[in-house]
Amino acid sequence: MTALKYLGGYPPPLLDKVRQLIERDELGDYLQRRHPGRHEVQSDKALYAYTNALRQEHMRNSPGIDRVWYDSKLDVIQRALGLHTAISHIHGGRLKARKEIRIASLFRETAPEFLQMIVVHELAHLKEPEHNKAFYQLCEYMQPDYHQQELDLRLHLTWRDVLAARAS
Ligand SMILES: [Zn+2]
Repeated sequence: MTALKYLGGYPPPLLDKVRQLIERDELGDYLQRRHPGRHEVQSDKALYAYTNALRQEHMRNSPGIDRVWYDSKLDVIQRALGLHTAISHIHGGRLKARKEIRIASLFRETAPEFLQMIVVHELAHLKEPEHNKAFYQLCEYMQPDYHQQELDLRLHLTWRDVLAARAS
């Protein structure tokens, strides 16, 4: 049985469905159908501008961000940890003293809605450190279908691992 480490906390019927999609080799098609686009935010400079634009649009009163960048070390960390920790490691940390946001470089090659989701997540953390109700409300305010996008992102990460395992 596939472990589905990115999907802990989701209801068992949903996990069964995901396992079926993997077994039938349909998860890749599902993701491709739902998320066919690729964004063009490729440089750290572009990522900073993208993040800052979202911040100015939705969190006008928040302090400016010092730095935003793609971090290639973020996507291989702490695979064995629980789900929330795993995802928070994968999308990166905030460094408190300066307002810095690191985005795992795997997001360079994703659909625009996944980049938006992860940036929204990190921006919300500037205001709300915990994954609590206020945090998710802020995420939904910035991206109304945030929860669906987060689920699909987790499916994307799952599929990535399935492909990597097959290739090795
Ligand atoms: Zn988080």
